[in-house]
Amino acid sequence: MRCIFVKNTTFDMKALMLLAALSVATFAVANDTTYVVSPNKLTEVCVVLNDEGELSYSVKHLGNIILEPSPLGLKTNIGDFDKGLKLIKSETICVNGGYKAVERLKRSADRYLREGRMFYFQNPEGLTFSLQFELDDNTVGFRYCIERQKGTGSIVINKELTGFRLPQKTTAFITPQSDAMIGWKRTKPSYEEDYLFDVPIDTRSKYDHGWTFPALFKVGNDGWALVSETGVDSHYCASRLSDSEGGLFRLEFPMPEENNGNGTVEPAFALPGNTPWRIIVLGKTLKPIVETTAPWNFVKPLYDSEYQYPFGKGTWSWILWQDESINYDDQVKFIDLAHEMGFQFTLIDNWWDTKIGVIRMERLIKYAHSKNVEPIIWYSSSGYWNDIEQGPVNIMCDPISRKREMKWLQENGVRGIKVDFFGGDKQETMRLYEAILSDADDHGIMVIFHGCTLPRGWELMYPNYVGSEAVLASENMIFSQDFCDREAQNACLHPFVRNAVGCMEYGGCFLNRRMSRSNERGNIRRTTDVFQLATTILFQNPIQHIAIAPNNLTDAPAYCLDFLREVPTTWDDTRFIDGYPGRYVVIARRHGTQWYIAGVSASDKDISVDLDIPAEAKDLYLLADNKAEKQTVKTKNGKYRATIKPQGGFIIAFKME
Ligand code: CA
Repeated sequence: MRCIFVKNTTFDMKALMLLAALSVATFAVANDTTYVVSPNKLTEVCVVLNDEGELSYSVKHLGNIILEPSPLGLKTNIGDFDKGLKLIKSETICVNGGYKAVERLKRSADRYLREGRMFYFQNPEGLTFSLQFELDDNTVGFRYCIERQKGTGSIVINKELTGFRLPQKTTAFITPQSDAMIGWKRTKPSYEEDYLFDVPIDTRSKYDHGWTFPALFKVGNDGWALVSETGVDSHYCASRLSDSEGGLFRLEFPMPEENNGNGTVEPAFALPGNTPWRIIVLGKTLKPIVETTAPWNFVKPLYDSEYQYPFGKGTWSWILWQDESINYDDQVKFIDLAHEMGFQFTLIDNWWDTKIGVIRMERLIKYAHSKNVEPIIWYSSSGYWNDIEQGPVNIMCDPISRKREMKWLQENGVRGIKVDFFGGDKQETMRLYEAILSDADDHGIMVIFHGCTLPRGWELMYPNYVGSEAVLASENMIFSQDFCDREAQNACLHPFVRNAVGCMEYGGCFLNRRMSRSNERGNIRRTTDVFQLATTILFQNPIQHIAIAPNNLTDAPAYCLDFLREVPTTWDDTRFIDGYPGRYVVIARRHGTQWYIAGVSASDKDISVDLDIPAEAKDLYLLADNKAEKQTVKTKNGKYRATIKPQGGFIIAFKME
């Protein structure tokens, strides 16, 4: 599926030299300066080894400086690779690859062509490492690779010097890393913090621990950069960004307090080995950011599965009916609701082990199957790293209990689990994620993570991985009116940042006006019904737990229920149409021959968006806030002007044979 080859020919030297000559004016010239350019020359990286033998890189996109000289290097327990470095040699790289039939992404198939360079360095003690840069026209990816050497077969990375220095005019859309061991039953950090919108880059983070990936930067009028990492598995920790000093964000490892202090901060791996890829997605506009497939283009499947995993929609009693609904009778109501809606799944949330019990659970699973509904069953990940009481606990963390449980799940025909409340970003926790995934796949079980880290390429790496929360998700509508008040603003951000780099288990689309079982009390939803429906297209996750309840069968408008029955959850293509993070967003997605264009707005005035509707479009219809029914779309020369009201939305659907 993926091929990598190293060219040893004189790789487009003319273009390289031309760009090198052009670049001299803006980048300081030093001892060893090498330019790496993308296939169509839109993106250029300048790698510099200065007179002290220190490494840095800078990035230009369409001739504009996006990253100023930013540090590179490693400090390790076998030696330091940060100064006195000598370039031994470098080679060009060309990667021509792709993936296909991966339903769980924003695009089911993709091709990519990257060009790059592998640099081999030696430190003053004669130890070597290499630095791998690979570029496509909108992406820079890099990582460090270390060979087995001088009899040393393992390494601990004590520190990365890796940084990202943004120009001072840059503003950021970023979310802070939490303190460890705070929040609900001491479960943080869990990537559930508020985002800041368009703030100056030197803004201090709320907890003084910097920012989590991904981070979106607007470099004045020069372009956008989405910074993240991918390919993080059991061989490394997940990293984050420090607070910026003069625009420089340094890569930081997890905090010692995470995971209740268990496990090391510094990652370790066997040699030869490498660090995860750090990726920078670049765009003059936001289109390459929203449409990027970079997190999956730098990784490959870590195992083959003998199972085919089904995706689709599900019901979820807990979101509106909360813990009190975890009983046999209420679960039957949500199985029946799923059946009535034609949904494939129902999620049975926390406490089922004590409030339903294993024996009656087996009966409930059978009942679900009799209704053609697949139960997805909740587990805590913990464990010795938090104070979670909701059961089942102490199963997914323990290899022996976990294997026994997976066997029980498979015997009862369960095909999905949701594992919640992880301990942070240390390598020890990455090992747990991977162990749960790989054990589950042995039994044909797919896995959803909540209370968890950002997925970093996992959709492609683990065939039975479904999606992760790692966002302030729909539950916060129940918990806080303030979150309801800011729902539209957050919805207008996620497609550009969090959901741009990974599946997002949001669990939204409420049709209740009030956030409670009765629909008569509780927090007030500020957004329209069409807004809610539009989020099922704007938020991408291959299984969507829709936040409806049995009362919606009779009190929600029929067009809403019809739409929810119809809308797919997997996509063959994704196109960014218009928008600005936090203000409004319009995206088109295709499933087979069916297209949906969806838009929502958080702006305080009407937003108009001009759309091209193809002449061949069939079965064209519009859902908009002005009418509680399907409407015809009146185009003018193939154009349609969609107007989005504040806190409102629209959907246009059509078929293209
Ligand atoms: Ca959560």
